Amino acid sequence: MNKDHPDVVIVGAGISGITAARKLQSYGHVVEVIEKGRGVGGRMATRRFAGARFDHGAQFFTSRGSDFAKLIETASQQGAVKKWTNGFSDDPDGYTRWCGSSGMTSLVKWMVAEANINVRTRTTVNDLRDIPSNAYILTAPVPQCLAILSFSQMLPNPGTHIQLSSISYKPTIAILLRLDEPPSLFPEHGGIQFLDHQDLAFISDNQRKGVSDEPAITVHLSNILSESLWEDSDQEVLAATTVLIEDHLSGVRITDYQIQRWRYAGPADTWSEPTLVWGSEPTIALAGEAFAGPKVEGAFRSGLAAAEKINIALSSTAKSMERFKNA
Ligand SMILES: Cc1cc2nc3c(=O)[nH]c(=O)nc-3n(C[C@H](O)[C@H](O)[C@H](O)COP(=O)(O)OP(=O)(O)OC[C@H]3O[C@@H](n4cnc5c(N)ncnc54)[C@H](O)[C@@H]3O)c2cc1C
Repeated sequence: MNKDHPDVVIVGAGISGITAARKLQSYGHVVEVIEKGRGVGGRMATRRFAGARFDHGAQFFTSRGSDFAKLIETASQQGAVKKWTNGFSDDPDGYTRWCGSSGMTSLVKWMVAEANINVRTRTTVNDLRDIPSNAYILTAPVPQCLAILSFSQMLPNPGTHIQLSSISYKPTIAILLRLDEPPSLFPEHGGIQFLDHQDLAFISDNQRKGVSDEPAITVHLSNILSESLWEDSDQEVLAATTVLIEDHLSGVRITDYQIQRWRYAGPADTWSEPTLVWGSEPTIALAGEAFAGPKVEGAFRSGLAAAEKINIALSSTAKSMERFKNA
């Protein structure tokens, strides 16, 4: 193996990329994660503005499989995550909804720190050939991965390319509202989930949730309304949202706001396997929520699956080189 460069380059420091990095590092590989954003977490995003803090991507996660449960148990013991609620309806189903202890990014930040993962932030990957490596794991939404692969001339075979191109995504508009005082019409835990609402998906009171010291709510519009308001100005989105949540605001004043448009909030369809791997020298893997289920835990499982497959590919390349040397 060439030691002038990392064994594996991972594009994206969301939960799938960081999970893959931790696993590969535990196998002894040298890994570098490259992230275009200022910090880690990807769609598990927390933002500060107007003196308040907001979770503006994923609001919570559940933990079903044993690998993820083990990680979450340790993260909880070390203060990175906490139990938020056992359900959002009036009659909770009792299943734990977890969140980051000080915002959703807490989990991924902790995963990076605990395993001492090498992450290069504020760096957008366009051409993989600029960052030589034995293997790559790409974890951005699939259309963005295909753009990188096309530019790098590393696309998979045409049949697979066509199948990947058919994975589409649903958008979500998130509206972040800084309020002058706490709104009263919220449950104690601060989360309201709208399972069958035409226009709203979720409202979260970041102060009640423990993310913000100051009054701050996040509103997620439904995928359908997000799509129809996508091209509208921020002011128009705000106006439409305030009408929808008038009752929940219960007369409190909005002092500041931001609008975040998530073009790739979640995949409409997912790949049939938890990862897709092809090629040798370099070996390429795609991972992320589009491969193992459109949730935080799905992204985690996909990152693990990609790491396992890349580890096997790198080990067999190393063995062939050893045989070649000894021949
Ligand atoms: C609005 C919203 C609400 C959600 N609600 C929930 C929820 O309640 N519960 C739940 O379980 N899940 C929820 N999800 C889904 C969950 O957030 C995702 O499944 C999960 O975070 C995806 O992780 P990932 O690692 O696959 O991708 P990401 O988190 O998107 O990570 C990919 C990373 O790649 C980076 N990147 C992209 N292109 C490049 C490039 N060219 N160069 C370098 N870096 C690049 C991105 O900046 C990003 O950080 C929600 C998502 C959204 C958007």
